[in-house]
Amino acid sequence: MTDTLRVQADQETKAFLVLEQYPDAVVLLDNNWTIVYANFLFRQKFCAGESPIGTNYLSWLDEASVSIIQALKPKLTNGAEHVELSHRVPDGSTVAFQYFFYPLPTGAGDHYIAGISRGTSNSLGTVLEVMQLSLELDKNNKQLQEAQAKLELLAITDQITQLYNRHYFFKVAQHFWEESRRYKLPLTLVMMDIDNFKTINDTHGHLFGDHVLKNVTFRLRKGTRKSDILARFGGEEIVLLAPNTDFQTGVVLAERMILAIGTEPFTMGNCSAAVTASAGISCTDSAEFESFEALLDSSDRALYAAKQAGKNCVRPYSVLAAKPYR
Ligand code: GH3
Ligand code: MG
Ligand code: MG
Repeated sequence: MTDTLRVQADQETKAFLVLEQYPDAVVLLDNNWTIVYANFLFRQKFCAGESPIGTNYLSWLDEASVSIIQALKPKLTNGAEHVELSHRVPDGSTVAFQYFFYPLPTGAGDHYIAGISRGTSNSLGTVLEVMQLSLELDKNNKQLQEAQAKLELLAITDQITQLYNRHYFFKVAQHFWEESRRYKLPLTLVMMDIDNFKTINDTHGHLFGDHVLKNVTFRLRKGTRKSDILARFGGEEIVLLAPNTDFQTGVVLAERMILAIGTEPFTMGNCSAAVTASAGISCTDSAEFESFEALLDSSDRALYAAKQAGKNCVRPYSVLAAKPYR
């Protein structure tokens, strides 16, 4: 059975809550006899209250019953079967129970097997209907969760570069800023800006400009670490936040970013252009910053210094670089 088919049917699964109250012991099995759900009565009767989810159903039966149910398996996907099986119960003895087994389509061309061991007896049709509805509810819950996750990702992603957007950047940045303060860890910020991007657009068109932006990102991703936060800060400005990174390491990272962009031209169809970028870097271990915004502002000033120095280079923050780039 695939993961997507697996019912996360533990006691917390809302979809199966209604079966918890059921006066019959109910168990749901996948094709390999793995228990994917067992209701309260089943757990109480057969498992001393422990959860059997993920265990092999056959391991709860005596040997003769294992043979009986295995012989019955081919029929179980066709229709209902009634059978008496003996369970090993917690006190070490075995006890016979009347079982009804039914195939329950999972909706993906596969079947679960629903086993109902009758207690005070409800309509079996009702139990099955409840199980089927529970399965559907579980599936719908998962689809809803997947859709929500996609929406959340969309809300924090820049659509051209697929980097984090500015809004999300500030959110995570605040978190890392506070963590860096609390644990006295260095935090490095690199502000990078593509050089002469207006000319690139003017010369080769906006589509080519977009292509450069996308591929700049691709090159930057290859050269940075998983723990680093890369985000699109503005038009052709990309920011890198490197937690637990000191100034020296930060400079190496920033140099690598600039090199990754400048070493090879960007090509789209017949169009090709050499592109460079400049970067400003600041780090909490090289100066005192009273807020994250102050750290950001200092990277921006350093970026201005890099532009002033002729572009295609990295400059560190220095109190002398008084003017911000933007
Ligand atoms: P400098 O070296 O000083 O940074 O010069 P620059 O030309 O890169 O900077 P400037 O601020 O003069 O121009 C930035 C250009 O970036 C202008 C704007 O049209 C372009 N731009 C901003 N966002 C996008 C985008 O999403 N796609 C494309 N193709 N261009 C963009
Ligand atoms: Mg620029
Ligand atoms: Mg700019």
